[in-house]
Amino acid sequence: MNTCTTCGHGLTGDRSLWTTCHACQDRIAACLTEIEQAWPHLSDCLEPSRGHTGPRVTRSTDWTPPAAEQVLDLIGPMGVPHRVYLRYADLAVARRLQPQTMPPGADARLSRAVRGIRRHLPWAAQAVDLTLTHRELRTVAEDLRRVTDGATTHRIPCPAELPDGTTCIGQLRYDDASRAARCRTCGTQLEPAQWLDYWVQLGQPTHA
Ligand SMILES: [Zn+2]
Ligand SMILES: [Zn+2]
Repeated sequence: MNTCTTCGHGLTGDRSLWTTCHACQDRIAACLTEIEQAWPHLSDCLEPSRGHTGPRVTRSTDWTPPAAEQVLDLIGPMGVPHRVYLRYADLAVARRLQPQTMPPGADARLSRAVRGIRRHLPWAAQAVDLTLTHRELRTVAEDLRRVTDGATTHRIPCPAELPDGTTCIGQLRYDDASRAARCRTCGTQLEPAQWLDYWVQLGQPTHA
C-alpha cells in the first residue's frame, strides 16, 4: 500500500495512487487560510514609535517592544510573502509551468502565492511529495501567529493624556500573562479592574 509522503498514513480508495492523504491536503489548505487571515494584522503589531511622528512622551519606561524586529523580519524582503511565493513557484515548476512573476508589493505577492498554491494543490496531492510545502507553510503560519496573537485581540486606543495635552496615539493591549493592560507607546498600565471599566465604557469594541 502506498503511504502519504507527508504523514506516512496509508492511502486507500481513490487516493491509493496519490502522494498525499486527505488530512494533509486539508492541513496545507488550512495553513494558507491562516496565513491569509493573519497577514493583514501584522502591520498593526508595529507600534507607533516614540519621538517619530507622535507627540513627545516624557514618561519613562524600561519597556521596549520585543516584537518589532520579529515583525519586520516577517514583513521584510525575505519575509512571509517571499517564503510563500517560493513554495508556490516550486509547485508550478513541478507541474512544468512557468511560475507567475513575483509582484513587487508584499500584499500582491502573498495573495498571488496563496492563490497559486491553492490552484495547484489538488494536482500536487496526486503527484508530488508535499512534505516541504507543508512544513514551510506551517512554520510561516506559526511565525505569524506568534506575533499577531494577542495583538489582534483585546486592543483599544490608549486613553492616556500626555503632558502636552494630547492623547496618546498608542494602543492598550491586555496581556494574559501579567493580567494587565499596557500601552507600548507611553507605558501606561491599567490593572484588570480599570481595564474592564474602560473596556465596558468603550462599549466593548469588537476584536480587530
Ligand atoms: Zn498525510
Ligand atoms: Zn499610551
